[in-house]
This record gives sequence, structure tokens and C-alpha cells, in this order.
Amino acid sequence: MKKLYIKTFGCQMNENDSEKVYLLLKGDYQLTEDPLEADLILINTCSVREKPEYKLYSEIGRFKELKKKKPGLVIGAMGCVAQQEGERLLQRFPYLDLVLGTQGFYRIKEALEEIEKNGKPVVYTELKEDFKIPLVLSEEDLPKEKPKRVRAYINIMQGCDNFCTYCIVPYVRGREISRSPEEILKEAEELVKKEGVREITLLGQNVNSYGLKEKGYPDFADLLEMLSQIEGLWRIRFTTSHPKDLSEKLMKVIAENPKVCKHIHLPLQAGSNKILKRMNRKYTREEYLAKVEKLRSLCPEIAITSDIIVGFPGETEEDFLDTLDMLEKVRFHEIFSFKYSDRPFAVASKFAEKVPEEVKEKRLKRVHEVQGRITEEIYNSYVGKEVEVLVEGRSEKDPQKLTGRTTTNVVVNFTAPRTDLEGALVRVRILEAGKHSLKGEYLETLAL
Ligand code: SF4
Repeated sequence: MKKLYIKTFGCQMNENDSEKVYLLLKGDYQLTEDPLEADLILINTCSVREKPEYKLYSEIGRFKELKKKKPGLVIGAMGCVAQQEGERLLQRFPYLDLVLGTQGFYRIKEALEEIEKNGKPVVYTELKEDFKIPLVLSEEDLPKEKPKRVRAYINIMQGCDNFCTYCIVPYVRGREISRSPEEILKEAEELVKKEGVREITLLGQNVNSYGLKEKGYPDFADLLEMLSQIEGLWRIRFTTSHPKDLSEKLMKVIAENPKVCKHIHLPLQAGSNKILKRMNRKYTREEYLAKVEKLRSLCPEIAITSDIIVGFPGETEEDFLDTLDMLEKVRFHEIFSFKYSDRPFAVASKFAEKVPEEVKEKRLKRVHEVQGRITEEIYNSYVGKEVEVLVEGRSEKDPQKLTGRTTTNVVVNFTAPRTDLEGALVRVRILEAGKHSLKGEYLETLAL
């Protein structure tokens, strides 16, 4: 059997796409960790942030010599950067064989056949408005030998209609397309039945607008209710939620459905109304705060995490202080914070009043300081409490300990009388808080 080496950078969506490629090629290719023995090398990167783009270039460059030694080797790029750059990648790297865009990667088999037949590079970067996301996991395709896993991801939609000015997702992943509820339910049922999956994370750029464009589809809140009927599925998570589309109906499902985890990732991005407007986020700080207040009144235990960008063009010290003020007001569990950087094709790259690098650097440091303190306070508030943890396996740092997450998505490492509890739901007493995780002791198994 041929060997496939696949390297993924960037977001969870990309991880999910890589897994799909693996499943599409299963039967012809076997995964390898060693690129030197591979027949097919794929680099899957995301361009939402700058680094993965450079990673793609350096990774492709890395295989130039290997290709010379092994002419039959096929080297391909996929993901957002491939979508964005298309043919230009072939000009930059003449030894590249394959460029697969965000819809094109589903045609990997066809692309490989074409390369074999014609001996010429193949580029599939067309973005179709009426594209239908194929169901990759089917009864026959499902890898029966695959080890049991506790958590899995399901793509429920692709693309985005929002056009935030700093982002290129709508250009590289196309407009929003939702998958049919039947397909999502089928995939979830199979993951639970065949692989013992206990927790599913639903993925989309803005899951809150799931199904709104498609006739006869449920909305996202109803989709969560439908999935929660699956026997054996214990937890449902989702990401990402655009604040403007977070409805009260969805808040109620999060609060009331015991299978829906008490965590929401709600990217704020900036605290100043002026900057939010320039970002085209379509909400104000007041509206964001009102949604947070409503959500917490319905579900007091909810953990809210967020994304913050500092140094967006035109951000003054006063605007930045508004962001710090929002951190204090909302008290996020955790945030992912970034310095703004121009993305090719993004509208904001043409905005004037760019913030100097050193100012961005200092602001990011201040964000880390403020949020670091808040996260520490929140994590400390867990000490002494008993929490439910879904066990994901042994802790990487200390294999004598187990690791898992609370419903609020906080990592817990804990001691237990046995280490074969992968996939179990257990009760743990929290003894200590770290910077990014909690430590605890096992109390009892709730479900196995
Ligand atoms: S909501 Fe905005 S930031 Fe998120 S993917 Fe869409 S355009 Fe990009």
C-alpha cells in the first residue's frame, strides 16, 4: 500500500479536512509519520493567521531535494492558502504537483488519477455557490480498525457570509453552506456507534447561522436538540459563534439541555465601538454585554472564551482601553489574543492609520497581563469544587495521571486508582489551579 504523509497547520477546521482526506484515500494509502517514506505528501495550512502561510512555504521548500531523489513522489498543498494562491503556488514551487482548495480537496482521488494519467500538476480551486459538502464517513468507508476515540469533530457548515474586514475566510472558503441535518445526524450516530465517541464538537465559521439559508433545515438550536437524542453521545460542543447571531433560543438550549456543554466561544475581537464598526462585526460593545448578561442569567455556570485582536488600524490608546475594560466586565475564562496583521485580499489591509509594531507588542502584553489575572482568579475559584470530567486518556506530562475536560472546557489532570478510564465520565475534586489547567483527585465513576 502507498504511504501518505499529511501535515496540518492552523485551525480545527483544517484538522478535520485532513482527516477527511485520509478517509477518502483509505484503502489506497496508509498514514506515515515519516515524509521520507511517503508516496504522497500533503501540507494543509490556514491563512487566517500569518504564520501558517510561511509554514506552508517552508514545508514545501523542505521537500524540494526529496522530490529530486524520488521523482514519483506527489507533493500537494491544501487549505486556505492553497485556495488563495492557486496557480501562483506552482510558479513559486515548480516541483509541486497538486493544489487543492477548500472545496477541491474532496476531489483528491480524481486529482491523483489525473496526475498519474497526464503527468502534469493539478489545481482545483473553484468555489461553487451551490457546492454540496460530501458525506465522507459512510457505513462502508468508516475505518473499522480505527481505535476508539473519546472526542470527534463534525463539520456542519462551510464558508462565511460576514466579511469582517480583517478576515479572508469568505473569499477562500466561499459563502455559507450548511450540511443537511440528516447527514450530520448520520455521521454523529456512526461516530458514537462504531468508534465509541462520547463528545462531538460541531464546527463552522459561524454555527449560529446554521440552516438559516437552506429551506426546511432546522436552525442551530434545533440541530443541537436533535443531536442530543443520540443514545451514547454524552456531550456536544460547538465553535465558533458570531455574537450578533446568538439567539435567546440557542441560549436556552445551552442552559437547559444537559448534553450541551456549558461553554461558548464568543469572539469579541475589540472593545471599542469605533473599531468594531471598522472591523464590520455588526454589534456594539453594549449589545455584546447584553447578550453575555442574558446568557449568564439563563446559565450561570457558563464559561465564555473569546478572541481579541490588538492594534487594528486606527486603534487609539482610548480604543484599546475599551478592550481592556471589556475583559474586566465580561471576565472570560480564557482568550486567544493576536496582534493585527494585514492579510492579503482582506479589506483592512488597505486601511490607513496602521498601528506601529512596538505599540501592538505592548498592547498584547497588557492584554495578557489583564486576562492572565482574570483566568487565574477564575481557575482558583474551581479549587475545592467537585466537577464532572470526561476522561480523554493519560496525561502527556505524567502518564500516571489521567486527563480530561470539564463541561466548561477546562483541562483537568488528576490522580486515579486506575488509568484505564479513557472515555469514562468521572467526578473529580479540584485541588489546585495552574495557569492553563486544573489538578485534582478522582472521586467516582459516573458512567463508563
Ligand atoms: S465571522 Fe468574520 S472573522 Fe469569522 S470567518 Fe466570517 S468573516 Fe471571518
